Amino acid sequence: MAEQKAKKKAVPAYKAGRYCPKCGPGVRLAEHGNRWACGKCKYTEIKPKQ
Ligand SMILES: [Zn+2]
Repeated sequence: MAEQKAKKKAVPAYKAGRYCPKCGPGVRLAEHGNRWACGKCKYTEIKPKQ
């Protein structure tokens, strides 16, 4: 994934608060480049293309 190098753009509201739908609103999803991942249940959500 070399293409996400120079792109450091502000992502809309969608990014602000990603919570795990499985663990509940208290568990934030960790951001990993092009996706979010839950550290508890391994739930992963792919970011929409900007
Ligand atoms: Zn979870």
